[in-house]
Amino acid sequence: MIKFYEKDPYAPIQYTYEVENILYKGKSKFQEIMVIQNPHFGRMLILDGVVQITERDEFFYHEMLTHVVLHAHPAPKKVIVIGGGDGGAVREVLKHKSVEKVYFVEIDEDVINVSKKFFPTVACDIDNPRVEIKCMDGADFVRGRNADIDAVIVDSTDIVGFATSLFTKEFFTSIKNCLTENGFYVTLSESLHFHKDIVIEVQETMKGVFPMVDLYTAPIATYAGNWWTFSVASKGPSPREMRKKFEIKAKYYSEEIHHQAFLPKDMYEKLMQRKLEW
Ligand code: SAM
Repeated sequence: MIKFYEKDPYAPIQYTYEVENILYKGKSKFQEIMVIQNPHFGRMLILDGVVQITERDEFFYHEMLTHVVLHAHPAPKKVIVIGGGDGGAVREVLKHKSVEKVYFVEIDEDVINVSKKFFPTVACDIDNPRVEIKCMDGADFVRGRNADIDAVIVDSTDIVGFATSLFTKEFFTSIKNCLTENGFYVTLSESLHFHKDIVIEVQETMKGVFPMVDLYTAPIATYAGNWWTFSVASKGPSPREMRKKFEIKAKYYSEEIHHQAFLPKDMYEKLMQRKLEW
C-alpha cells in the first residue's frame, strides 16, 4: 500500500499513514489540497502536507474548539468562524439554537468546495441560511468591526504562511474590539507536548491585549503532540464557568469535560513562568 508521510512544520516526529486511495489532489491559489482514504481514519483532508481532519476523529477537535466558549457565554447570537474550511466548526456552532448568525471566513474557497464533495458529514451545514460565507483573510474581516460579536473561533492551519496573520497583536486587538462585553475568543495553539514555547508565546501575546486569558486542552490523535491546546480570551468573564445549560448533542464534549479540560491553575502558572520541565 502507498504511504503518506506528514510534513508538519513544527513536529519533532513524522506520522505515516497508509493510503488506500487518493481521492483528490489539487493546488489552490493558497495551498496544496489532498484527500486520501486511510483504513483506520477513513477520509483525511491534507493541506500542504499536514493532516487537517479525519472522518474518524474530527469531532473531538470541532466540539472542543466551539462548545467551551459557546457554553461560557450565556446566549451567543453572533459568531465568527475564521478558517475551518471543512465546515466542522460551523456545524458545531449551529447546534446552539441561540446563534442567529455565523460569519464563516475562510481564505481558500477551494477547501470549502473540496470538503463539500468529500466530507459531507462535516461540511453538512455550510449552506445553512444562518451562515454567511466570506472568502477572505480573517484578519482583514475583523479589522475595524463594531463590538457586536459574541464569539470569535479561529480554526486555522498551523502558525505558518498566511495563517500567521491570525496570531499577531494587531489581530488580537481587532478581535477584542469586535467582541461584546461577555464575548469570547478561542484559537488553536498547538501541543503542550511538542510546542510549549509556541503555546506560551500565543498566551503572552493574548495577555498583552485581553484582561482574561486561559488555556484548555483536548486529546487529538491526529495532531502532532496529541495533547492539543486551545487559547481562550475575553474582556473579563472566565471561560471556566458554564453560563449556559448543556443541551446539545455531542460525542465528547460534556459539562464534566468542560471543567476538566482547563489546565489546573498551578500548572498553568508554572507553564507561564517557563517552569514546566519537559
Ligand atoms: N482543524 C484543522 C487543524 O487544526 O489542522 C484546521 C482545519 S481548517 C481546513 C484550516 C483552514 O484555515 C484552511 O482551510 C485555511 O485555508 C484556513 N486559513 C488559514 N489562514 C487563514 C486566514 N488568515 N484567514 C482565513 N482562513 C485561513
